[in-house]
Amino acid sequence: MDLELTCIGCGIAIQTENPAKEGYAPPASLEKDEVICQRCFRLRNYNELQPVSLSGDDFLAILNGIGDRKGLVVLVVDIFDFNGSWIHGLQRFVGKKDIVLIGNKADVLPKSVNRNKLINWMKEQSAKLGLKPVDVMLVSAVKGQGVPEALARIDELRKGQDVYVVGCTNVGKSTFINRIIKQATGFGEVITTSHFPGTTLDLVEIPLDDGKAIYDTPGIINSHQIAHYLDPSELKAITPKKEIKPKIFQLNAEQTLFIGGLARFDFMKGERSSFNVHTANALPLHRTKLENANALYETHLGDMLSPPGKQSLEAFPKLVRHEFSIKKAKTDIVISGLGWITVQHPNVVVAVHAPRGVDVVLRPSLI
Ligand code: GDP
Repeated sequence: MDLELTCIGCGIAIQTENPAKEGYAPPASLEKDEVICQRCFRLRNYNELQPVSLSGDDFLAILNGIGDRKGLVVLVVDIFDFNGSWIHGLQRFVGKKDIVLIGNKADVLPKSVNRNKLINWMKEQSAKLGLKPVDVMLVSAVKGQGVPEALARIDELRKGQDVYVVGCTNVGKSTFINRIIKQATGFGEVITTSHFPGTTLDLVEIPLDDGKAIYDTPGIINSHQIAHYLDPSELKAITPKKEIKPKIFQLNAEQTLFIGGLARFDFMKGERSSFNVHTANALPLHRTKLENANALYETHLGDMLSPPGKQSLEAFPKLVRHEFSIKKAKTDIVISGLGWITVQHPNVVVAVHAPRGVDVVLRPSLI
């Protein structure tokens, strides 16, 4: 039930049902004279930011509201979900502003991955998507790796101007921002929220020494991220937490690998080959014959082939088949939000079945 109460911090309508949604306040807090939403409460008392998310249109409205301002834009993406965490339409808002790309979750990359190759791939992908970042950096917001360096570089690149941090949900933007808050705010400094023209939502303002600020924008909900099709416990299973240990499969043609029930990899044609699967360590992989794969998926999706589990099965999108004829050895097939499979040998034909809307792209191996 929505109540006719508004938060004294940001003015949003208070609700007591869903802690993950905007305007949440614990029911007991309504007995006080003044009600403050949980997000403003944490911001005020702990200088800690809680994520807020918005749909694409609302988000672009916010971007339009700050479109005329000068500043540096920092786009945070998940390196395991590069295409899924891309913000389409961002180039229109960025205009003449410089943009810095931050690839988060670098802590889970296998040691064998060449960081420079990954950065170069991110630059190429950005160019394809219409943006040319002035710099690309890798960080781990959770571990703090690369964050001081990224902040120092951002400080250089902003040339005395404000900074706008943008990113879609689940890329780790709030973890990143909370790190920045700890590092950037000195004793007694308080982060505040500022209202921007043409928007209904406040941006969080982290003060910088020269009177300028870092502004955190709400996370955008990209409906084609795999993350939105799963419930929180399933999302945990597909989100790598520790360094990924690649799993190596020797397959013959006409064999299939299921990645949980989320995706399927068919080795169609070619000599017996090895394939290195880079997905969250906890995600179960299941090998079968190609000829049995359809039937297995139909009967076992949600139990043996999970996630998705029983709860998210109904809303889970149909798998779409993408076929690739791979000529070069050491090619990665990237399934956005899940990871990638390195094809070790040349001249193979493979097919990946991924949820509708989820990007599947090829790239030269990062090793
Ligand atoms: P937001 O929606 O973009 O604000 O993302 P959150 O900061 O809430 O993080 C989303 C998920 O990614 C959470 O499960 C975090 O624990 C995880 N996460 C965030 N940063 C990192 C990181 O640097 N490494 C890893 N492995 N996970 C991260």
